[in-house]
Amino acid sequence: MTDTLDIKITKAAQSRLAETDFNNLPFGKVFSDHMLVADYADGEWKNFEILPYGPILMSPAISALHYGQAFFEGIKAYKHANGEVSIFRPDKNAIRFNKSAERLCMPTLPEDIFVQSIAALVDIDREWIPGKPNHALYIRPFMFATDAFLGVTPSATYKFVVIVGPVGPYFSKPLKVKIETHYTRAAEGGMGYAKAAGNYGSSMLPARKATEEGFDQLIWTDAKEHKYIEEMGAANAMFLLDGKLITAEAKDTILDGVTRDTVIALAKNWGIPVEERKVSVAELIEGAKNGKLTDAFGAGTAATIASVASITYEGVEYPLSDPATREFSKKVLTTLDDIKYGRAEDAHGWNYTV
Ligand SMILES: *Cc1c(COP(=O)(O)O)cnc(C)c1O
Repeated sequence: MTDTLDIKITKAAQSRLAETDFNNLPFGKVFSDHMLVADYADGEWKNFEILPYGPILMSPAISALHYGQAFFEGIKAYKHANGEVSIFRPDKNAIRFNKSAERLCMPTLPEDIFVQSIAALVDIDREWIPGKPNHALYIRPFMFATDAFLGVTPSATYKFVVIVGPVGPYFSKPLKVKIETHYTRAAEGGMGYAKAAGNYGSSMLPARKATEEGFDQLIWTDAKEHKYIEEMGAANAMFLLDGKLITAEAKDTILDGVTRDTVIALAKNWGIPVEERKVSVAELIEGAKNGKLTDAFGAGTAATIASVASITYEGVEYPLSDPATREFSKKVLTTLDDIKYGRAEDAHGWNYTV
């Protein structure tokens, strides 16, 4: 732990809280009164500042816009019934933030400074955290290159920004998903493990095609053979097959999800065998047919646990068990919520109190 971070604070003259409709919170469209901004220049982070949320003036030549030196994180803060506020596992995001930074040739940020920055912003805007079930404050830290220079070379200057906003549930129903066998999200040696902005840009066309074909989401497969499951949209794909929790191992094509890690820890606590390995499409289809695939879901901070209703592969739809009867994912969701909202003991120390 370093010393307390020195942050300059300028409060908004007037809060937008009163004019915000907390009964209508489309994901990612409502932002709080403040944001945190810091600059990287001359080899160091400086000018940490919390100021009213609003536009940032930039040169049209900034390298982030042209060559993609940009990445982000996604975290949530929760309000407990007693009014206490906690952020879920921000230390994990701090580590992943720096992995993304290194892959994109961008500067790292000391983990405790990352956590202190988001905690300071959450504290100032704590009134923005909804108190309702399944609601939270979504925290979006990100970094981008700011050199005004059209050259494919790492920028010398960067901005670290954190914005936050109240959110409700991400998906409203179990998902009809398609196994993607043409497009690829990430290849070995690429940057799939980084939360790089470019990874999401390249996912939009395949995602839109899947939507046009009537699917809610797609499941990515490996770049070489399209035979092994990678991820589900922007969530980790997890399955309960023959009583075991199986998911792709967190290698270079997989985003090492905090939710994924949390689900694995819970499964291990409960004595459920966990296998992080190559998961073939063939074994899932087989399991869907013989009933041994008893659970399937996407795991992520935004979506939490998103149940899969059916899997379509090469034009054939394989329905899975009724999500309402799935013991594992229901227990995971209940347990996670109980910890996040302070209703159960936080035995793993996952909650960071603000
Ligand atoms: C963010 C993300 C996840 C989920 O990670 P969490 O830390 O659980 O939010 C999984 N896959 C991709 C591609 C992601 O971008």
